[in-house]
Amino acid sequence: MCETSYRLYCKGLVSEEVVKDETRQIGGFGVAICDPEDNRLYEMKNALGDEESTQQEVAELAALVHGLKWALELDLGRVTFFCDDSNILEYVTGKAEPNESSVATLVKEVALLQSRFSSCEALPASVTVSSGGITFVLEHARAAIASQIRWREGHVYMETCPICCEDVSCDNKFEVPGCFHRFCVACIKRQVDEALDWHKPVKCPSLGCNLVGSCAA
Ligand SMILES: [Zn+2]
Ligand SMILES: [Zn+2]
Repeated sequence: MCETSYRLYCKGLVSEEVVKDETRQIGGFGVAICDPEDNRLYEMKNALGDEESTQQEVAELAALVHGLKWALELDLGRVTFFCDDSNILEYVTGKAEPNESSVATLVKEVALLQSRFSSCEALPASVTVSSGGITFVLEHARAAIASQIRWREGHVYMETCPICCEDVSCDNKFEVPGCFHRFCVACIKRQVDEALDWHKPVKCPSLGCNLVGSCAA
């Protein structure tokens, strides 16, 4: 029996996205399975189903279920998975009980899947040697969402900018490094100009995203 413990990173996201004139709740997830040195061996990204995209905690747990099922299919006996969401970590380690039944059902499913490994431990993402794995699956989850909100016009893929609601080609969208939110170039430029005018750090303009850019302009 191999003693190697694989490292599993999962990220589920739900996001309110504007597609043409319609606002929709879209879910996506990313999974990465790494060796003990954090080298990526397997990775996937995909859309979450409607019932998996009802709220953020459900999306996170659904991503974890997808990741654990995949690790079982690959017959990885020992797995450590990392949670960057403290609530989820408390649920899956039994330190807290979720209130909502949809969340509780998924927590039970995670426990059941965990029991099928020879060892399957949950750790906070803060203990990982690098944030690479978590950042990577976040990027995958965002890409899975982005792929569901674009449409084709001729040879060009189009997306709606969530700030100005203009439809722009995907090539004309800027992706914020770190959180991977996407906006049209004009909106990003306005954000950067304002920050420079007021001598403030450049922030990601997505509502509720507190990422501060490392480089201005
Ligand atoms: Zn815009
Ligand atoms: Zn952001």
